[in-house]
Formats: sequence, C-alpha cells, structure tokens
Amino acid sequence: MTPRPWRGILVAGFVVVAVVGIGGAATGLWSELAGDPAMRIQGLTEEVPWHEALPVPSYAPAAEPEPAPEPTFDLATHSTTDPASPWVIVNKQHPIAADHVPGDLVDVGGARLRAAVQPDLAAMVAAADQAGARLVVRSGFRSYAEQAAARADVEGRRGFAHAERYSARPGFSEHETGLAVDIDSGTQPECNLQTCFAQTAEGRWLAEHAWEHGFVVRYTEQNTAVTGYAPEGWHLRWVGRDLTAWLHAQGVGSLEEAFGVPGGPDYPTG
Ligand SMILES: [Zn+2]
Repeated sequence: MTPRPWRGILVAGFVVVAVVGIGGAATGLWSELAGDPAMRIQGLTEEVPWHEALPVPSYAPAAEPEPAPEPTFDLATHSTTDPASPWVIVNKQHPIAADHVPGDLVDVGGARLRAAVQPDLAAMVAAADQAGARLVVRSGFRSYAEQAAARADVEGRRGFAHAERYSARPGFSEHETGLAVDIDSGTQPECNLQTCFAQTAEGRWLAEHAWEHGFVVRYTEQNTAVTGYAPEGWHLRWVGRDLTAWLHAQGVGSLEEAFGVPGGPDYPTG
C-alpha cells in the first residue's frame, strides 16, 4: 500500500480543531460563571479580606472613661504681698519696703532685672523682631532713691498732677520689684514714654503678644480706674507665663482684678 500522509495530517488537524473548540467553549462558560454576581459569595470583594467581612460579635460596651478634670489654676501659688514673689502687687495702695533690693538682679541691655525675667524678655525681644517690632530695653529695677529721683524729674518737668498719673512716688513703684521693665520703640523713638507709643509697631505688638512671654502691659486704657495710672503701653510687668496665659484666657485686664487687690489713684492718707 502506498502511504497516504495527507490522511495523517487531516486527522491531526481535526483533533486540533476539536480541542481548541471544546477548550474555547469551556473558557467562555467559566468566564460567564465568574462574571455572574449570583455565583459570588455575598459580601466578599477583593478589597475586604474575609476575616473583616464577617460580622463582629458584640460585647458589652466598655464604660466611658472619665474625662480628665480641667487643671484648675491656683491664684494662691505665689504671694501677692511678699516683695520677692513673682506675683507681688505694688500699687498706690500697696507700697514696697524702701530698702528692698532683689538679690538676683542681672544686667539686661543696660537695665537691671531679676534673673527670672531675662529668658522671657530675650524670647520676647526676638519674637517681636521677627514681626518687625524693635523692642529696646529702657529701664528696669530702680531703688527707692532712684525712684525718688525719677519721680522728682517728671514732677519738675511736667508738674505734680501729670506726675501723679504717670510716675509712682518712691516706695510705690513696680520698678522697685525688679520685675517691671520700660520698653522704647526702635522704629519711632519720638514716641518713647509717650501716649503715641501704643500706636508704634512696638506698642501694638506688645499689646497683642506680651502675654505670650509672661508679661502684662500693666497700665491700659481699660484698667486706669483700677490701677490708678494713665495708659503706659511701654511699661511691662513680668509675672510669668502661667499667670499671663490664665489672665488672657479669662480676659482679666489687671493684676488687681485677678487677685481682688485694691488699687486706684489714691495713695494711703496719713
Ligand atoms: Zn515703668
């Protein structure tokens, strides 16, 4: 017999067609099954792992934790009568001992201040500088004798009535504590120690930001009746950041009001 190779080729071709055909049909069927939402397991997607798709058993809810009590500010932390206290109040009703000289005075830009004041003052001057306000330290501690001379100078130039509103009599000045500092304007020196200081870059910055550094603008338009002094935007008193933060948050405008300490324009009689 003569071999007929074309028959083999024909058979092989048939087999290939059959296999491809059946395979194609099966693939199509699988695709349909996989694409049918009914054939998928409810709730399972590729994004959510099975263990997270399962319902979470519910337990009895834990008791709500007690909120931490608001820290209460203690106004009795420091004395308001001890001349060495950071919160001492010196006003026309509350003099300071004539011989009081703090033992920890340091030189700050040519002025003397208690050591505790220096870091906050340095930080404040730097912060103001960043904002274009040039705070220049003018004066700090004055002894009784120095306050007497300063007061006599003001009185001599401006008269008694003016001096009473702007300059303390010796023995009644915050400058005798070493905790008060007068600031000059580096941008408008013509307003130094003048009412217009409040409108300088320095005065405006201090009114808004001094508290952030532990200082209060001690004499303002709002507290004149309480403090007994005309507004002095340049006169700062250091009491520390804890107290100034509290004063700011509470909206309390003077040390007298914060501590319930009498002040006002009148000196003790007799
Ligand atoms: Zn002053």
